[in-house]
Amino acid sequence: MYADKINKLNSLRTPCYVYDTQLLARTLDAINAETAAHPNYHVHYAIKANANPDVLKQIASAGLGADCVSGGEIRAALEAGFPAAGIAFAGVGKADWEIELALKAGIGMFNVESVEELAVINELATLLNTRARVSFRINPDVGAHTHDNITTGRAENKFGIAKEQMVEVIRSTAAMPHIDFQGLHFHIGSQLLVMDDFEALCLRVNELQEELDNAGLYAPNINVGGGLGIDYEQPDEHPIPDFHAYINTFTKLLQLREGQQLHFELGRAIVAQMGFLITRVLYVKHATKKQFVIVDAGMTEIIRPALYDAFHRIENLTAEATAAADESRNAVVEYDVVGPICESSDVFVKDYAMPTTRRGDILAIRSAGAYGETMASGYNCRPLPCAHLI
Ligand SMILES: *Cc1c(COP(=O)(O)O)cnc(C)c1O
Repeated sequence: MYADKINKLNSLRTPCYVYDTQLLARTLDAINAETAAHPNYHVHYAIKANANPDVLKQIASAGLGADCVSGGEIRAALEAGFPAAGIAFAGVGKADWEIELALKAGIGMFNVESVEELAVINELATLLNTRARVSFRINPDVGAHTHDNITTGRAENKFGIAKEQMVEVIRSTAAMPHIDFQGLHFHIGSQLLVMDDFEALCLRVNELQEELDNAGLYAPNINVGGGLGIDYEQPDEHPIPDFHAYINTFTKLLQLREGQQLHFELGRAIVAQMGFLITRVLYVKHATKKQFVIVDAGMTEIIRPALYDAFHRIENLTAEATAAADESRNAVVEYDVVGPICESSDVFVKDYAMPTTRRGDILAIRSAGAYGETMASGYNCRPLPCAHLI
């Protein structure tokens, strides 16, 4: 369905990213429709998924807040027009300059991951004579059904404060005049497709809230993080994730207290499906056991297959466009699609059925809008990929 639009880009330098702004608009509408009935629900977009300035502007104008994990992301969010009050700042290793930048900008929330970090924020807020609004990221110790490298909510992960220390840490802020305790933050992992994980999180948050009640404490904000997954296998059948099931899980199961604000931080679910990595076939190599399609994009443009064993659909747009006129395109061949980088892990997919493919064909690597361009590197002295909006 995208072949026509993207083939018009034939003269473009490849590899490059193409972002479908209409799909992004429909995705943002779908989220806003789910939260419209809940004025106390707030969605923050996780900048690290895709920080393209035009993409950020479109998301900011849809009224979302921003979830940042670095000073650079805070700058990018402010430049794109996200209001400072809607910015949450997470991360286990916030540098002093990043904390100062956030304090001066007056961001909405620091999601603090350790008592050591709390002490530094207090010190810097005192020096700047300001108050830091602080939530504590609690490690809920719930397992998420996803790749090991993208679970974040188990006791052995580096993220967050142990739930056993929660009350003590909150109490310690009473002696810190420059710290304003504002709530609890959680984030259990990424690419979660079954609601079980979010259900387990809700039950854990309810338990922790009871502990707060018993301690006479109140958290004005509950932030349940992000992690909603997308359909990498069938992007055209499921271009927009099931935001209804996701938001509803929290509405049904979370026992919010009077006046509590509920925050979500979604990255992948908002931007993954609107992104295409466009690449050109350099060679079709007929080796003894395999047929390799060697393309001009590699792990430098999208590292997810090499890093997480992630699957992305790949479509031969040239073959799609010429199939009617060229019989030979109707034969299906199994290829390994690989990049040009000098690493054995630079493989997109193995034994993958595609129409007969030739040098010069344009391929689209689908669902590449999240953790694609933002994770690109200059390894092998390669230039960073460009991006185009359609
Ligand atoms: C990465 C991240 C998110 C977004 O995760 P997705 O899986 O892209 O939704 C949300 N919150 C925090 C703290 C994160 O680090």
